[in-house]
Amino acid sequence: PYVRVLHLAEKLQVSPKKVLSILINTEIREYNLATKIFHSEIKLVTDELGIGQSIPSVLITRRPPIVSVMGHVDHGKTTLLDSLRNTNVAENEPGLITQHVSSFVVKFEGRDVTFIDTPGHAAFAGIRGRGAKINDITILVVDCCEGVQPQTKEVIRLIKEFRIPSVVALNKIDKDEANIEKTEQELQENGLELMNIPSVQISALRGDNLDILMRLVVTESDGVNLDTDLGGNPFGFILETSKARYLGGLATILPLRGIARLGTIISSGRTLCRIKAILLPSGEKVKEIGPGYPCTIAGWRQGLPNPGLKFISAEKLVDAKRMAKVPANLWVLEKNKRKRQILKKLFLAEKSRSAVQESVEIRGNKNTLCVLLKSDTEGSKEALETILTSTSPEYLKIQVFTSTIGDINLTDVRHAKALKAHILGFNVGIHRDAVSLLTSSAVPYFTHNVVYQIINYVSEQLDKMLPPDY
Ligand code: GDP
Repeated sequence: PYVRVLHLAEKLQVSPKKVLSILINTEIREYNLATKIFHSEIKLVTDELGIGQSIPSVLITRRPPIVSVMGHVDHGKTTLLDSLRNTNVAENEPGLITQHVSSFVVKFEGRDVTFIDTPGHAAFAGIRGRGAKINDITILVVDCCEGVQPQTKEVIRLIKEFRIPSVVALNKIDKDEANIEKTEQELQENGLELMNIPSVQISALRGDNLDILMRLVVTESDGVNLDTDLGGNPFGFILETSKARYLGGLATILPLRGIARLGTIISSGRTLCRIKAILLPSGEKVKEIGPGYPCTIAGWRQGLPNPGLKFISAEKLVDAKRMAKVPANLWVLEKNKRKRQILKKLFLAEKSRSAVQESVEIRGNKNTLCVLLKSDTEGSKEALETILTSTSPEYLKIQVFTSTIGDINLTDVRHAKALKAHILGFNVGIHRDAVSLLTSSAVPYFTHNVVYQIINYVSEQLDKMLPPDY
């Protein structure tokens, strides 16, 4: 992840000389216009140019690691988060709109580290439910007076199951009853190998050794792939929601890719937001926000999104909705009515052939789920099509090749095989002739008499298509 000095200057629309002189003045190393510079150096340049919090969309960049604090109740999670938050000077600046946001960024030795306060095991639930994860690193807090407790064990199990890089914080060492050795031994007995997992003795209350804790977190994060695409479509998670006077519904989001700006449209579930304000945890208003930085956004329509759900960019929502209803090759010519009518006839006659042609293009697109729909009646056929193509932006990337009435037959299976499509059946059976090819060709299919179950299946398939890092 780097950008050359010249390229950066172009992107920032400033003179290359200016950028070069800023870099040379840092005396970090030698620079020329072709030097590859990295994220921290880019930040130096943007800070110096007064671009401040805004992050230029120049390249694949390294986002801050996302850290969650977990452990048994009363072992000191909240106290630790509060102590870490208070190390943030900016947080206490006067004149800012104060609001409670449970996620925040700690600056440590020039690096940003993002902490998210997720209730219970929400950060892990993310991994389970949607093939994605929110947190990169876990801090396991253990009270040395109480030792390993049921929720400690649960966190150990999750850390091991999902191989989450972790740091153990042996807490409350200021107390006389603290028994560090015993606690360490119990952790070992519960399968946490302290030989391999870094640990530190802390007092969350007094703030002892929090710098060492931060150092360990930063070191762990060096082993995590935190590269992300600043130029990509915004994508991330909803952390929490709230309401504010004047601004209406608010959602705290954690973007993981792309840059969200004022005016950017994002959606989550059935809700939609044209961003009209972005607030940092400090209360400061900014115009754009990059991956790894939690922020609160205003501009929600159709209610507030559900915490824990992902959000995606919905810039092309309107277009995509319309496109989903018109076969792709007709869409292109939509403005030309006469041609369209001719094409429509051709299209109907050559439905399967054109579908195959389309699939050649579409198959290369990893974001598209191709489906063949089978329904029992005209009414349910329409309902299914509508739901799949237009209800939720989450289902936008669905390509319906054919939608017909009747049992799944041999032709359907052949088409699905050729198109690498899934067959979805609503209240239909499988024709006798089709059974053997259906099983031997491993064409994915799903039938049910409850529409909701079909939507569920589709949503699962879409989740499988998400990039593994998200
Ligand atoms: P949580 O349930 O894990 O969030 O635990 P809290 O942060 O609410 O802490 C539970 C109690 O332990 C509170 O009364 C804290 O003041 C206390 N506590 C947390 N950390 C320390 C510590 O390092 N030393 C001492 N003496 N008390 C602590």
